[in-house]
Amino acid sequence: MSEIYIPKILCVDDSELIHTLLRARLKNERLELHSTTSSVDGLLMAKTIKPDVILLDIDMPKMDGFEFITRLKSDPETQEIAVIFVSAANQSQDRVRGLDQGAVDFIAKPFEPIELKARLRTALRLQHYVRMLAQRAQIDGLSGLWNRSYFDKRLDAEIEGAGRYKKALTLVLADIDGFKLTNDRYGHLFGDTVIERFSNILNSGRASDVACRWGGEEFAIILRETTMAEAFDVTERYRIQLANVVWKEHPGLVITASFGVCDVTNADSPLTPKSLFLCAEQALYKAKSDGRNRVECFIKKPEKVS
Ligand code: GH3
Ligand code: MG
Ligand code: MG
Repeated sequence: MSEIYIPKILCVDDSELIHTLLRARLKNERLELHSTTSSVDGLLMAKTIKPDVILLDIDMPKMDGFEFITRLKSDPETQEIAVIFVSAANQSQDRVRGLDQGAVDFIAKPFEPIELKARLRTALRLQHYVRMLAQRAQIDGLSGLWNRSYFDKRLDAEIEGAGRYKKALTLVLADIDGFKLTNDRYGHLFGDTVIERFSNILNSGRASDVACRWGGEEFAIILRETTMAEAFDVTERYRIQLANVVWKEHPGLVITASFGVCDVTNADSPLTPKSLFLCAEQALYKAKSDGRNRVECFIKKPEKVS
């Protein structure tokens, strides 16, 4: 059952009165309202709360609304948040400047609650479509897994995060064995069924695992906060699950895959997304050359002592 999504609104305005007014006017709406009178705190809240829409005042001490939106839009973590300026500064040039800086709308104070609600609904609807399209563009159509371009971005971010917070992180690469032959013998439609089934297996782990279709019959899974030993066990389970699938179209057929595993502590240094990937790939090649249907871990070479 899918959960009902409650939109989050953040109001950043130095006047306490506006917050009281909004709380009263929006109390029966199905939304979560957060508020702050400090624009500096507002930026931090935008990062942690990840609101759908920010209602933003212009005239505020320390950081005005224009500087706020410039900072918000230059941070990849917050740039997708829709901003509606709510301001008494009702000059055309302020409206134009706000919209030019990426605001989706402008509401003049004092506002009619009914107008505010209508504009909020429109902004939320737009935001929903923008997010849906952005997500669709990152999902592979056949497997439903994340696609290559998402994988590249995510691996960069996860490696940076693992380094910063000294967290474990493991990359697993998987490649279906003899898949060309499977396609040749049983047809590409059956081949597609195999890809879908294998994808479901790879996507059945923890919610924090990031399973991607990297290429045709090649997959990559980023296992967050997971050591290489733990990742090995998970991957072994995936390997066995695939080998045990009974294909109703072809009973008796056994499809297998090979896996290469490497974590951030074993990858060649300096640690980069590329070095981690290449080390996991080397382990995958070893799994292939050692006979396929196996999981290989990349083991760090001992440092040369001169
Ligand atoms: P190995 O065990 O060495 O991995 O051999 P392999 O045959 O799996 O590897 P190879 O790279 O030679 O062949 C991969 C095949 O995967 C060839 C390609 O036609 C097939 N393939 C790639 N994408 C898809 C797809 O979306 N659907 C289907 N049905 N086949 C695909
Ligand atoms: Mg391949
Ligand atoms: Mg293959």
